[in-house]
Amino acid sequence: MSNTTINTTSSPTAILNDGGEPGYTFPNSFGYYGKFGGAFIPEMLHRNVEELRNRYLEIMQEPSFQQEFNDLLRDYVGRPTPLYYAKRLSEQYKTKLYLKREDLNHTGAHKINNAIGQVLLAQRLGKKHIIAETGAGQHGVATATVCALKGVECIVYMGVKDIERQAPNVARMKMLGAKVMPAASGSQTLKDATNEAIRHWINNPADTHYVIGSVVGPHPYPDMVARFQSVISQETRWQLKQQTGSELPTHVMACVGGGSNAAGAFYHFLDELSVQLVAVEAAGHGVNSGMSAATTQLGKPGVLHGSKSLVMQTADGQVVEPHSISAGLDYPGIGPMHAHLFDSGRGTFLSATDEEAVQAAFELCKLEGIIPALESAHALAAIKEMKYKESDVVVVCLSGRGDKDLGTYMKYM
Ligand SMILES: *Cc1c(COP(=O)(O)O)cnc(C)c1O
Repeated sequence: MSNTTINTTSSPTAILNDGGEPGYTFPNSFGYYGKFGGAFIPEMLHRNVEELRNRYLEIMQEPSFQQEFNDLLRDYVGRPTPLYYAKRLSEQYKTKLYLKREDLNHTGAHKINNAIGQVLLAQRLGKKHIIAETGAGQHGVATATVCALKGVECIVYMGVKDIERQAPNVARMKMLGAKVMPAASGSQTLKDATNEAIRHWINNPADTHYVIGSVVGPHPYPDMVARFQSVISQETRWQLKQQTGSELPTHVMACVGGGSNAAGAFYHFLDELSVQLVAVEAAGHGVNSGMSAATTQLGKPGVLHGSKSLVMQTADGQVVEPHSISAGLDYPGIGPMHAHLFDSGRGTFLSATDEEAVQAAFELCKLEGIIPALESAHALAAIKEMKYKESDVVVVCLSGRGDKDLGTYMKYM
């Protein structure tokens, strides 16, 4: 059954509603998914995080919030994004492969879904200022975009090294009116920018909201971000129904940095145990090369950026500097939902090296005429590692487009 009608009236409201048992989808009231999660925060931030925890569900359920969120997703972001049957890629792998086209969102990736949700929420909390941290600049650009749209002041912390490496995104943020603050401490990358953003928040707790860009951070951030991103799987369900006759695929695959596109792509399938959830981490130069970001393979339980999860660390608990060719996957931790999916066996965790990701990106260009983000290319690379039946229905989350990665791709041409 094939039906090309786009259901533009389908709204993502269901995801914003409270309820449900703690399990794969919902954390318990302390923010735990199994052994992972919680809120490990300095005393000074207690009031802010507590205010957010007390109000986020109530605000997300307000009809006026849902109306504004859904309208912006439709008219500004361009949702629903297509679920595209990749015919030539399917022939290559002898199965049915569908791409969820988050690359077609405004600003080029899934991150805008969450940025819109959090800025609208911050306004309802009465916050006048927005801060964020960014590594590659993608989350910074998404946040600066929404702040421009809403006329809100925006400060983005970014490591000095990243500012040098990511000049186009720095220019974008500035053009969008954001202030980019260099983080000069430590390794001058993402983790230092995060520390600076947290310091800013501690000093300005009353009027500032900190927009975290993935399903990481203290409770309620992982749950809140997962709910904003869950529109991805909510659309996938009805799109699959239209195109295949069934709402359920056999597999959903997504790359995992902190894990927000994967959380969104998995969300409405988490408790559908027939659906295999495949998370793909960045192996960098190889899982055991010392230059990797494959957190579930290398990490141990620990606390990073406000929650307990799996963290790449030395024997005495120092965070290990990760490596991936894709800046979005270059993170030494993973969100607590994913740590639980790994720990419980509900999720299948694979990894792809830098080289494998680049090859997969070139293959998608050649077979489908789509240049994927390097992050998304990791999910594509893992297709090779899977054993599919011809009748399987495999959804791959194409989290972003590859324009930002042309410089890297050119080195391989
Ligand atoms: C940031 C980013 C990612 C990684 O972040 P998640 O929170 O793991 O989704 C993946 N793909 C793209 C295109 C990104 O910009």
